[in-house]
Amino acid sequence: MIAEHLTQASYLAAAALFILSLRWLSNPKTARRGVAAGVAGMTAAIAGTLLHPDIVSFKWIAVAIVVGTAIGIPLSRVPLTAVPQRTALSHAFGGLAAGLVGTAKYMLWLQDGQLTAFRTAAIAVEVILGYLTFTGSLMAAGKLQEIIPTRPITYPGQNVVNLGLLAIAVLSSVVLVVRPDLWQFFPVVIVLSLAFGVLLIVPIGGADMPTVISLLNAYAGLSAVAMGFVLENKVLITAGALDGSSGFILSVIMCRAMNRSFTNVLFGAFGQVQAGGSAAEAKAVKSGTPQDAADLLGNAEKVVIVPGYGMAVSQAQHRVREIYDALTKQGIDVKFAIHPVAGRMPGHMNVLLAEAEVPYEALVEMDEINRDLPQTDVVLVVGANDVVNPAARHDTKSPIYGMPIIDADRAKFVIANKRSMNPGFAGIDNELYSADNTLMIFGDAKTVLGEVVKALTGGGGH
Ligand code: NAP
Repeated sequence: MIAEHLTQASYLAAAALFILSLRWLSNPKTARRGVAAGVAGMTAAIAGTLLHPDIVSFKWIAVAIVVGTAIGIPLSRVPLTAVPQRTALSHAFGGLAAGLVGTAKYMLWLQDGQLTAFRTAAIAVEVILGYLTFTGSLMAAGKLQEIIPTRPITYPGQNVVNLGLLAIAVLSSVVLVVRPDLWQFFPVVIVLSLAFGVLLIVPIGGADMPTVISLLNAYAGLSAVAMGFVLENKVLITAGALDGSSGFILSVIMCRAMNRSFTNVLFGAFGQVQAGGSAAEAKAVKSGTPQDAADLLGNAEKVVIVPGYGMAVSQAQHRVREIYDALTKQGIDVKFAIHPVAGRMPGHMNVLLAEAEVPYEALVEMDEINRDLPQTDVVLVVGANDVVNPAARHDTKSPIYGMPIIDADRAKFVIANKRSMNPGFAGIDNELYSADNTLMIFGDAKTVLGEVVKALTGGGGH
């Protein structure tokens, strides 16, 4: 039939577009094209599905599209700092959709006596991963939005209880595969998966949520693969596999950049113990004014700017760009040092700096910039903390020991801007701020850097 051929052709086009999209998204220069390819791929997949000869009624599809659009548009308008929790919500919806489709298919096939062992197994995988992604992602979003306590909540035997629940859910699924008519086990699988999603996230600190979200993304993808087998839909299998593997790779990259293992993120209750622990001796810090910063920057030959989470909070990227413009106009060499986990999501700094139209060539990866830092006159740290903390190199007791950092302290001079001496994400002190070659400029990044720009351009500098 023509419609069937058209559906398969559009699925093939969609799969190719998804692969191209991922390829293009991996480079900032082609990222916009990557987004467009992803949207085109999804449009092709939906159009192909609507052409499918099996569809008998478009009424509920239309209702779902209207409801989804009505929720999706306001969700897309969140500030950039809220993107991790927004992404978590999307995964929650994806997981719920997969779980509900699996549940509906189970009930239909149970009635019609069409439940084969393979179908039941695929539904079980879909339902377990779908529902645990649903509640897990809601918990992750809640922790990031600080609606629920962000501290890891732990109790003795927690991992045994959690894994025990999962084991019961898996065993119940095995019973269903062997005896599909024993439907009473199906609600057990659903309830345990929902509970497991919550319990999995409870012991993980809010700070680790971006890594967890990326992992939940991988689960949602795998759930979609299982759904593809249930519905015999090839594009779901392809897209789910791409989603699952890219989410998994991203989690691995994030763990490596923090020098943490998966088990440490998932079971380590990071962010719980160190508060108030080995409080470093309070050493005097030198603090200066925006004018001092402008003088130092204006007299440098080589400047490196290290942006961090504080730049995102303050939305100071445009002021940073103005500093870059003012300095390069004076013939000063200015580069940006990009740490892979600066901020709260992968690519956070790249996105903000691209929004402020900082030339992409000025952004340098951590390993490369570290070679240049000893020859750099001034490093300007904007709301970065953990990613420039030298304790990661030498303090074996530090929770961030071993995490690769940007060696800002090795430059001749460091200017560090933040609002107070409060710690960053890892909850620990940073000796960089009290180093002899560091000058602190306290205040909100946007305000402080605005004054630095004024001093540089309005005759305040040199
Ligand atoms: P950070 O260690 O969290 O420090 C950010 C600093 O910004 C804070 O110390 C804060 O100090 C300052 N700040 C906050 N608001 C500010 C404002 N309005 N103006 C100026 N400064 C402000 O950030 P980071 O150095 O970027 O390190 C990122 C951390 O997040 C790492 O520990 C990383 O492992 C973790 N993480 C990142 C990702 C990722 O994908 N990027 C994922 C998971 C975890 P004040 O309060 O004193 O202003």
